[in-house]
Amino acid sequence: MASFPQIEGIGTAGGAIAERSLFGNTLEQLAEITSSFGLKNYRARQLWHALYKDRFSSVEEITTLPDSVREQLQAAGWVVGLPQIVQTFTSVDGTERYLIAGADGNTVETVWMPNGDGAEPGDLTEETANPLDYRRATICVSSQVGCAVNCQFCLTAKLGIQRNLTAGEIAGQVAAVLNRQKVKVGRDRINLVFMGMGEPFLNYDNFTAAVRLLVEAIGIPESRMTVSTSGILPGIERFAQETIRPKLALSLNAPNDEIRERIMPITRKWPIARLFDALRSIPMGPRQRFTFEYVLLQNINDRLHHAAELAALVRNSGLPVTVNLIAWNPGPDIPYSMPSPEEVSAFQKHLIASGVQTYLRRPRGRDIYAACGQLKRTVA
Ligand code: SAH
Ligand code: SF4
Repeated sequence: MASFPQIEGIGTAGGAIAERSLFGNTLEQLAEITSSFGLKNYRARQLWHALYKDRFSSVEEITTLPDSVREQLQAAGWVVGLPQIVQTFTSVDGTERYLIAGADGNTVETVWMPNGDGAEPGDLTEETANPLDYRRATICVSSQVGCAVNCQFCLTAKLGIQRNLTAGEIAGQVAAVLNRQKVKVGRDRINLVFMGMGEPFLNYDNFTAAVRLLVEAIGIPESRMTVSTSGILPGIERFAQETIRPKLALSLNAPNDEIRERIMPITRKWPIARLFDALRSIPMGPRQRFTFEYVLLQNINDRLHHAAELAALVRNSGLPVTVNLIAWNPGPDIPYSMPSPEEVSAFQKHLIASGVQTYLRRPRGRDIYAACGQLKRTVA
């Protein structure tokens, strides 16, 4: 295997004035900023509109503000501070993987999938009269630089945890990609999946603040968002109390605690039964379902008796569940094997025959290391 050089951060030049980002602030926070300059409240609303609706990337572009105000803001060190796409990798399947740099130059990965990944609810049934009228794409968003959860099959785990992303950095990945793809929010149908680098529920406050910005400011409904967790129990319990709540995916990946412990050591802390109890406390609409993600690792969890055990686990849980199967995506130095397409298909058929709604997630962008679990800031 080739070596995989990393971008360790692009560094930022130290200026005389420390830069402060406007992007990421709520309307209330922007009002504090504008009032500190003695400006009327409607200026905060203009700023908010420029940041989240127009998605301008520099203060100069915000022409709704008078020159003098823009100069004042800049003199005080305020910048828009939208995360920058510093590198792009394009897959043969149209997927694009971006390295996006935050203020400290640390990079995270964000993935644009022009046609989704086949596992979004609705994608299999909804057809449009003219699909060219608007686009339907999925953006996969990171929540941390690296990850502290030590899942044995995941490349991101190898990075360890570097740091949490701020709310502005999480929502900013989306804004940066929307700009690059010239997306019109409202016309184009954009799904967001918080399935990039990191564990969203170990960066809970910033993650939920980002969701609020994306819903209330950028304008993407939470019903088009899915957050995936490896099973951080306190996070699931807090999530149950939220008023704005994306859909929830649990990375189950095993039909019992014993196998799950081996591949996801975090299971020792929070076993499956406790996770299911927490899921039961989440209010669900009549048509809503949880997603259980299940990464198929050859000979570890992908045999037909595992499918039978998984079906029983799902059935006995009483939870409304859709299973998303993902054939394991390989990475260097990870001692697992990918199941064959026949094995994957047999596993899926077994689940469906047992009455479990099951989709197969198409691997997107495998050739550019953009697929699930491959996000490790790989440059080659
Ligand atoms: N940390 C969160 C979200 C990011 S991981 C979580 O674990 O849920 C997103 C999904 O990718 C998870 O369901 C995880 O099980 C899966 N995944 C990780 N490594 C993978 C790999 N090498 N191949 C396929 N899927 C993988
Ligand atoms: Fe972290 Fe998710 Fe990878 Fe596990 S699968 S190491 S929780 S990113």
